Amino acid sequence: MAKGGRPWKVAVIGAGPAGIYASDILLKQLAQKAEELGISKEAEIDVFEKNPAPYGLVRYGVAPDHPAIKLISRALDKALSSEKISLFCNVCYGRDLSLTDLLRRYDAVIFATGAGRDKKWELGQGIEGVCGAGRVAGWYNAFPGICAPSLATPTAAVVGGGNTALDVARVLLQDPYPLSSTDMPQEIWRELAASSVKEVHIFVRRGPAFHKFSVQQIRQLKSCSRLIVDEFSRRLMGAEAAPSSPAVLAAWRELQEASNAAPSPKKCYLHFASSVSSLFAPNGRLEGLWAQRNGGSGTEEKFFLETGLCVSAIGWEAERLPGLPFDSDRGIVSNQKGRVSEKAYVTGWAKRGCEGLIGSTKSDAAETVESILADWGQKGQGEVDSTSTEEFLQSRKIRFSKKAGWFALENYESSLGRPDGKARVKVKSAFEMNRVSGLE
Ligand SMILES: Cc1cc2nc3c(=O)[nH]c(=O)nc-3n(C[C@H](O)[C@H](O)[C@H](O)COP(=O)(O)OP(=O)(O)OC[C@H]3O[C@@H](n4cnc5c(N)ncnc54)[C@H](O)[C@@H]3O)c2cc1C
Repeated sequence: MAKGGRPWKVAVIGAGPAGIYASDILLKQLAQKAEELGISKEAEIDVFEKNPAPYGLVRYGVAPDHPAIKLISRALDKALSSEKISLFCNVCYGRDLSLTDLLRRYDAVIFATGAGRDKKWELGQGIEGVCGAGRVAGWYNAFPGICAPSLATPTAAVVGGGNTALDVARVLLQDPYPLSSTDMPQEIWRELAASSVKEVHIFVRRGPAFHKFSVQQIRQLKSCSRLIVDEFSRRLMGAEAAPSSPAVLAAWRELQEASNAAPSPKKCYLHFASSVSSLFAPNGRLEGLWAQRNGGSGTEEKFFLETGLCVSAIGWEAERLPGLPFDSDRGIVSNQKGRVSEKAYVTGWAKRGCEGLIGSTKSDAAETVESILADWGQKGQGEVDSTSTEEFLQSRKIRFSKKAGWFALENYESSLGRPDGKARVKVKSAFEMNRVSGLE
């Protein structure tokens, strides 16, 4: 079969870092390898994003006081500005597009839908004052429609042993003034400044040698609060063997120093080998929790913490996407090196689960692109429907905004920040975002 000479047509579902990196890497790899594979070296890529703005958790997960990481959006802008990549925001796979629609129109469909849903914490279901870290991160990152958690409590609890738990604790404890120079809208900053939270207790199920905190995150937490590793955990640190991994060892050393930190009006307690065993919510509203320390060899100790806010940061899971196989144990789209089924591929957190930083979505995308090119080299091009994407979406009465609209929104957000010398101030209202982006 002739391997074809027209540009390859590719759909990418999800404009997070994984989707944008996969588009960029695909174009670069094609330019390098097409000749060797005997295939067309041109491709036209349509990226579909369900939100009014792209970049997924770079925009709505990474904490506002991590500006260097937020700057990744500049690299994503650069990749997105390729004329071979088109962006369609407000278009949702499963609601506006089906797998059949996509397979008819494209040579390959790459799912990069992330794992943006908080893992369900059974204990907290339906209790006011209990929410997921994704909801809290969405709020302080100005995700449209997400309101503030209950901040009228002097003590908050966070359940989880990863960097997201520390992000949430730090934002809750931080002096609000440094945050006023970030991209956080005024209304959110005011909610944070009015917060009563003075103390955060973090419950980590595993022992101190097995946490997943980074040394930088611990240092940042120490700079805004007095970090206290509880007595029980300190005893465990004395009894446990020091971690062998250099990264965990560095963090462990930072923790050993923790309680010596300078006094601060804000406190953050770390409770290792401890879990929340029950919640006290007499009228469906959280008033406290029971935690359990597990010292091993059957020694368990319980204690009560009065609190009106408990945030679960126990991980994330991908949404089950219609038409695609799902690995419920790992919470990912089932795949082999990114291959899902005929012409369907996956990358990013939807492919490997909620592990790893933004940088790892690049190597991950490279593997998926390798699978696509190998398949194209083997099978060549088939027929695809060539109606333009705009016409197709309009025929379905789907309203969308495009790349020019996103760049207009970015300019608008920069202009909102300019009077106060900030790089940008985010727009929170979906209506306003769509107005500025010129939703068609
Ligand atoms: C709270 C938090 C803080 C983090 N902080 C850092 C940090 O400081 N540094 C770091 O390196 N990493 C950080 N990470 C990790 C980083 O965000 C991830 O590694 C990365 O975002 C994963 O990329 P992704 O593209 O797979 O998923 P996402 O970023 O989630 O992007 C997926 C995109 O797909 C879209 N989408 C989903 N479903 C559909 C659909 N049906 N149709 C159309 N579009 C859809 C989503 O709206 C989203 O835009 C953090 C993660 C979290 C949760």
